[in-house]
Amino acid sequence: MQHAAAFVTLMLLLPNGAADSQPLTIDTNFPGGSAKVETIDQERRLIRLSPSPHRDRGWICWWYVHIKGLRPGEILTLDVGPAPWATPDRATFSLDHKTWQQTAPGKREGKRIVYRQQVDGPEAWFAWGPPLVPDDAARMVREAAARLPEAEVFNLATTREGRETPALRLTASAEATPRFGLWIQARQHAWESGSSWVAKGLLDWLTSDDPGATWLRRHADITFIPIMDIDNTQRGAGGKNQKPQDHNRDWTDEPHWNAVAAAQEGLMEIKARGNLDFFIDLHNPGPQDKDAYFYLPPPELLSEAAAKNLARFLAAARQEISGPIPFEGRTIPSGSKYDPKWQAISKNWVATHGGDRVVPVTLETAWNTPGSTTEGYQRVGQQLGRAIVRYLKERAPGTPE
Ligand SMILES: [Zn+2]
Repeated sequence: MQHAAAFVTLMLLLPNGAADSQPLTIDTNFPGGSAKVETIDQERRLIRLSPSPHRDRGWICWWYVHIKGLRPGEILTLDVGPAPWATPDRATFSLDHKTWQQTAPGKREGKRIVYRQQVDGPEAWFAWGPPLVPDDAARMVREAAARLPEAEVFNLATTREGRETPALRLTASAEATPRFGLWIQARQHAWESGSSWVAKGLLDWLTSDDPGATWLRRHADITFIPIMDIDNTQRGAGGKNQKPQDHNRDWTDEPHWNAVAAAQEGLMEIKARGNLDFFIDLHNPGPQDKDAYFYLPPPELLSEAAAKNLARFLAAARQEISGPIPFEGRTIPSGSKYDPKWQAISKNWVATHGGDRVVPVTLETAWNTPGSTTEGYQRVGQQLGRAIVRYLKERAPGTPE
């Protein structure tokens, strides 16, 4: 009878508990917000959702919600689908909309995943991965420019929907010889928020007192773009495979997207100055990829000199990108067998148009690992910066400190 009594007590407590709490509410009406809410079960404290569909705006995989009405300390259940793109093993959440952490691993059930997370506050933000929206990109480049006299904020391009594309230009010291040229961009695919965090890690390192960073600032002209597809990032759409084609299949003689046209122009200006050394395009890969790896231009696009430079850079990257998301030497050439539109992929366009000197690569940083946090991504960015310095110093030995 003891068990029965306990059961009755529990039955009495539960409805009271539920009545005490405010209803859970869910909001997506903010930059980057995305969810189609399928169910809110107030009794079970369970929310079932999938990403907002946006017609012709690419993969439906990114979700990002603001939840209110939580009892601090309660366990919230989020049931999300569909797998695989919308269902990381661990989701990301924040209590203050600034610091992001991973949830415990979710439990997969068919095409869905169920995350159960204790929430120690009255409200929380949950997302596919750590968000970084256009306002954050603008702040990032503004703060870097405030720290460095050689840096200047500019608008890479006004988008088709009238938004600015925040960008930063660092100018090498006038006496620098040799003088290198770097182009670093992230987020041609809007859902790949981790790539913007890699970019942030690189920029924070670049503006620091680290000796490698000060050396690089002195010797390199650097163009830096944290988000290429501003409109879809703001909208909370996936962007990948959008119509008429996504940003990374738009590198033709007649680009559809203004950021791509402006990037091509900027790259050709650097090439004309004779010092285009790097084109680095930052992405996040598929759910099964657990490392950092590079897509390379197919060998037929590379001269002997270009192939040698590329191999040297990869060796430097292997030494520096050591974890939590390591580069262990995996590379994939993206030629005609990879994609019929291979020539319109940015780094292939740069390999074709950028000259012998340039190292054109796509860095894919895993998003579906315990290390794929804001800290983990930023660490990869910092390590990428060190790899660039290692390569440039090896290529131009004796360059003064
Ligand atoms: Zn991508």
